[in-house]
Amino acid sequence: MVISMLPAAAVASAPGHSHCVCGKTDCTDTEHGAAADFQSLSTLNSTLNSGHYYLSDNVTADTDITISGDVTLCLNGKTLSMGDNTITVSGNAVLTICDCGTLGAIIGNNSGSGSLISVTDGGTLQVNSGTLSMEHTGSNSQGIHTVNLSAGSSCSFTNCTVSLTTEMSGFSYSASTVYQEGGSLTAGENAKISFRSAGLQTTGSGALCATGSSR
Ligand SMILES: [Zn+2]
Ligand SMILES: [Zn+2]
Repeated sequence: MVISMLPAAAVASAPGHSHCVCGKTDCTDTEHGAAADFQSLSTLNSTLNSGHYYLSDNVTADTDITISGDVTLCLNGKTLSMGDNTITVSGNAVLTICDCGTLGAIIGNNSGSGSLISVTDGGTLQVNSGTLSMEHTGSNSQGIHTVNLSAGSSCSFTNCTVSLTTEMSGFSYSASTVYQEGGSLTAGENAKISFRSAGLQTTGSGALCATGSSR
């Protein structure tokens, strides 16, 4: 038997970074629209303005980041380390996340309280691929979440992993991967929401906690 396989074509010297907003280069989903051109993002400011960006390398944020307008971020197989900083998507802001690589992730490390991504006041978070992960150490927290979604906001997860790991046990505050205080959440194809803790949990903790008029 002859196995015919083309050599992985010369990964072009083309400087451009272009693919669908879901992360695929061969996407046929017409709802995703045409392929977009992404520009390299190697340093982060406290505001990320409208545009399509990709991580050209691993990057660490030393400040909270506010999404302004319509932002699409391709993780490109790299890691965005947020420490205990938060990405806020509020008002009319839209944050779309994808990964055209395989291990792209936004990772939070937190020993106190907070959220990796906060979607508030009408904000929209759309994760088309990639990983969002919060790693919580220590036993102290007044609430720890990977994604925190408030009333009027919306969030959708497809082909992605959203996880929270915490060392806390016997929480008196909420520790949940996705904490939804209203708004709408859609978890579609191949979305994985995982939660791991050191021990017993109280109400408001787990992979998904929905309160208020959540749908
Ligand atoms: Zn697509
Ligand atoms: Zn990409």
